[in-house]
Amino acid sequence: MCGIVGFAANENTAAEVFKGLLKLEYRGYDSAGIAVINEGRIKCEKVAGRVSELKDAAEGLFGKVSIGHTRWATHGAATRSNAHPHISYDGRFALVHNGIIENSVELKAELTGLGIEFKSETDSEVIVQLIAKNYFGDPIKALDAAVKRLSGSFAIALICTDFPLSVFAAKKGSPLIAGRGRNRNMLASDVSALSPFAKSICRLSDGELLEIRKDTLNFFRDGKPVEKEFEEIKMKEYKADKGEFEHFMIKEIFDQPEVAKSIIEKRIRNGEAVFSELEPDILTDIKQVSIVACGSAYNAGMAGKYILKELLRLPVTVSLASEYRYAAPLPLEGTITVFISQSGETADTLAAAERVRALRGRSISIVNVRDSALTKLTDYTLYTEAGPEVAVATTKGYTAQVMTLCLLGVWAKQSEKSVLFEAVEAIKSIPEIMLRLLGTKDKAEELAKKVKEEDSVYFIGRNIDYAVALEASLKLKEISYIHSEAFAAGELKHGSIALIEEGTKVFALNCYGPLTDKTVSAIREVKARGACVTAAFCENDGNTAAVCDEGIPLPIVHPIVGAVCEIIPFQLLAYFTAKHRGADIDKPRNLAKSVTVE
Ligand code: GLU
Repeated sequence: MCGIVGFAANENTAAEVFKGLLKLEYRGYDSAGIAVINEGRIKCEKVAGRVSELKDAAEGLFGKVSIGHTRWATHGAATRSNAHPHISYDGRFALVHNGIIENSVELKAELTGLGIEFKSETDSEVIVQLIAKNYFGDPIKALDAAVKRLSGSFAIALICTDFPLSVFAAKKGSPLIAGRGRNRNMLASDVSALSPFAKSICRLSDGELLEIRKDTLNFFRDGKPVEKEFEEIKMKEYKADKGEFEHFMIKEIFDQPEVAKSIIEKRIRNGEAVFSELEPDILTDIKQVSIVACGSAYNAGMAGKYILKELLRLPVTVSLASEYRYAAPLPLEGTITVFISQSGETADTLAAAERVRALRGRSISIVNVRDSALTKLTDYTLYTEAGPEVAVATTKGYTAQVMTLCLLGVWAKQSEKSVLFEAVEAIKSIPEIMLRLLGTKDKAEELAKKVKEEDSVYFIGRNIDYAVALEASLKLKEISYIHSEAFAAGELKHGSIALIEEGTKVFALNCYGPLTDKTVSAIREVKARGACVTAAFCENDGNTAAVCDEGIPLPIVHPIVGAVCEIIPFQLLAYFTAKHRGADIDKPRNLAKSVTVE
């Protein structure tokens, strides 16, 4: 979500900032802009659209320092005037901001009272005006004084006409990384924007300020210099390539068997699960597992919950990070908290992890992006090895998370040989099953052509099927914009069944063996009220086949495989439904890949 890039070098820096913004596009945004200092003045270009629309403008911007921004609007519409950078009333400063300033209304009133005229509706403009008001010749002091008055979250990059060779920065809550390159230094919201240019990187901590020049990077806290360690950049530059596919999302759906294979190669050796990152007894004497995540990662946690409960025979809870972070503190003795985030930069998950750390709870993060912020907040990190995911709606990132959770459960219980053999064999069959499911692509497209006309659809399931139903429903709504909800099949009759009427489209997920008869009853209940039911079930399940209007027969598999693979037909359904509705599949409206605001 929203990206910041800043460069200081000898030559023209706007071109590099432009390239950096392209790298951050995957995070999701609605407008973009770049500012430079040229001949002692700020020059700025903005668009209420895609970064690529800035290309020509960026080519006309020359300066030894530049800052750039992709905005994900929180305060004010996605218009050109609300796009960043914002310029101070005296024309001396330009600023880009990621985050939310919670006391912006009060600060704006105060500054307006001093005669300052605002040009945008954003909370961010308050910061640049506050800096200008606090400026008496030292930008670091002005920045320090201004940020001390802000509540909320921010990553800020700033340029000042009096210091045309410097970029200044500050951060609290939102990610910001400094990069050291050859004859140039830089900053950005994530490593991907720095990887083509930087040799080493350093993550800013909350409360730190930074001044970047082409050959120096100076960090400050409370106005005083601080020493920081740089680490060599490990991430290789990633060239996004759709290959033969029309969209990244469909490519990433089809990447899944390969991702599963590489997870198996890494995590299964000599028939045993391997987690060399973990201390061998980390899960031995725990009393419960608490999973914390947002969005699809939460749904992955739900799928993991059913599997882990079964394997570990322990209570497993799953919490939304946005709720968990503000919930009353819980005793954490005997608890291992597992945080899941594809990007490792999800603001709500980071805040929850900080909380667990403050309470000295033990924690594991399950993350896709190397060295991301979440990895620094937890005791252990398990990388999902899904490879870079470009489409905003996650597919391979989700299945890799579920696989990692399943493998973790197997690893914890592998002294019980019966668990081990069956589960390991099941996991090893995942790539093969995925390939079979991807073979149903044409059928999914046929179904999607009908679903695209619906206003509202419902997904039902029990146990693992319920967890998959949550993700199937989210996938469909987030990219096709069709209203969709998932219900636990047994809960339906306690209220939501009121929504079912003649012709209502219901998807029933019914692969979890022990409970198929129960879900058949739920299918009957909705059919009795006029629903048209498409059911996914194991190919030998005649009962579900007989009761539904249309079937998606799936291979008969171990529940672990079901938890990972059953989503695939629904990923395809979501993709083709969105495609036939003409939606912007890889960059759905209002969404961001990495949700770095609260
Ligand atoms: N809150 C700011 C705005 O609405 C920044 C949003 C962002 O992080 O992109 O302009």
